[in-house]
Amino acid sequence: MNRYLYFMVKIPDKVNNFIGGKYCAPASKKYLKNINPATGEVLASIAASDARDVENAVVCAKKAFPEWCKTTPENRFLILNKLAGLIEEHNDELALIETMDNGKPLWLSKRVDIPRAAANFKFFATGIMHFSQDSHAMANAINYTLRQPLGVVGCISPWNLPLYLFTWKIAPALVAGNCVIAKPSEVTPITASILGELSVKAGLPPGVLNILHGTGKNCGEAIVSHPEIKAISFTGSTRAGKEISAIAAPMFKKISLELGGKNPNIIFADCDWEKMMKVTLQSSFSNQGQICLCGSRILVEDSIYKKFKKEFVARTKLLTVGDPINDKSMQGAIVSEVHFNKILGAIETAKKEGGKILCGGKMVKMKGRCKNGYFIEPTVIEGLGPQCKSNLEEIFGPVVTLQSFRNESEALRLANYSEYGLSATLWTQDINCAQRMATALQAGIVWVNCWLLRDLRTPFGGVKNSGTGREGGWEALRFFTEAKNVCVDFS
Ligand code: NAD
Repeated sequence: MNRYLYFMVKIPDKVNNFIGGKYCAPASKKYLKNINPATGEVLASIAASDARDVENAVVCAKKAFPEWCKTTPENRFLILNKLAGLIEEHNDELALIETMDNGKPLWLSKRVDIPRAAANFKFFATGIMHFSQDSHAMANAINYTLRQPLGVVGCISPWNLPLYLFTWKIAPALVAGNCVIAKPSEVTPITASILGELSVKAGLPPGVLNILHGTGKNCGEAIVSHPEIKAISFTGSTRAGKEISAIAAPMFKKISLELGGKNPNIIFADCDWEKMMKVTLQSSFSNQGQICLCGSRILVEDSIYKKFKKEFVARTKLLTVGDPINDKSMQGAIVSEVHFNKILGAIETAKKEGGKILCGGKMVKMKGRCKNGYFIEPTVIEGLGPQCKSNLEEIFGPVVTLQSFRNESEALRLANYSEYGLSATLWTQDINCAQRMATALQAGIVWVNCWLLRDLRTPFGGVKNSGTGREGGWEALRFFTEAKNVCVDFS
């Protein structure tokens, strides 16, 4: 740790792998550039790891497993709860690093990303103390089901909520008694790297948590294909999810895939207007629209369509795009140049398809320290039908489309007209309509009159191309354990 950037935050020049409780250079001795998307400047170099680093990490994890899996739930609770406390203690520094790495507004990193990373450890550390195992009594026998840790498991996470999603996987894997090989996105690796240092301070034994950096092709695939890694918990694109399945399924690994989305936000005329408006702005553009749960297809009942369009566009125009470290910036930078170009390309496609840009649609040229950053105006598009690319493909940026519907059945048809099925949001005061829609919507999560209201105990995941398996609560602890039934005859 030797480079001091804004506000005395320390960023390592070289983001190395964390294996067996120590930081070490990758076997390749090569590094990838890590860019601050708000400025276009190089932030750090990150280890370009490959199968050799994965092998080293697996050797350390296997060595640590026999002791770690025998620790009591109380012991794991104490260590991981301490780790949560250390994250809280360093909230402001971690938030600033997250913002510099990802481009998201600093207030968002401070209020959401880093507190949630701490909450993930607290939640699962406490959860393991209450995790019970079933028993089934017969006339003269009893079955009891052991839930045993799997061994060494792999956790691979994306760039949009870096430490938040990284810890969402690692925490249940560790509390269940597994040793972990984890890879954060190569686009936003720094807070994950710092977690290694904090885990040592919390008392996590060497080898229990190993953090590797590098590309999906060279490092991610080496994790997925390693025969000693028994399960893969993955969050990221549907494309990578398919590649991972193709490798892991024939090896009979346990896999949990949390993938892309193209979520409908369905607004009926009888909604609570003010609440719907406020939350719809958030569900459209929070984190520059780079949340898998954002409602990118807004479906509005035709009797309120014009009113909605006018007010929503007016409010969207007020969202300030600016330097992420400025508290007044509602929108920060897009995560990378590649993703910035992808979003602008999707806006061009929408125009070619006949879409009308109601607001936004362009890059934002900043002045000062952000003059080379990647910023895009929040964009609202109308005039495109359900079969258009813009309504079928995930854009994962500050871009939403508007479509109108006449009645409940048309709303349902439009909502389900998607290969994806992650989440859906419904706005209505009619409890019967909400119930009918919630039952028929093809989605893993349905929010009624709210969005992103999260209880960590609930099952989290998608259907169709949005993935397979569920995270959260007992589901996560079940995923990271193997059930073994023992039947004892005492006749
Ligand atoms: P991505 O799939 O490109 O990368 C995600 C992670 O997987 C990275 O760490 C990457 O290095 C790794 N990876 C890529 N290809 C791999 C391969 N073949 N084998 C192993 N690892 C591989 O996704 P991204 O661009 O980082 O993230 C954006 C995507 O994530 C969007 O599609 C978004 O919807 C999705 N996402 C889903 C959820 C959810 O809970 N369903 C949450 C957040 C993001």
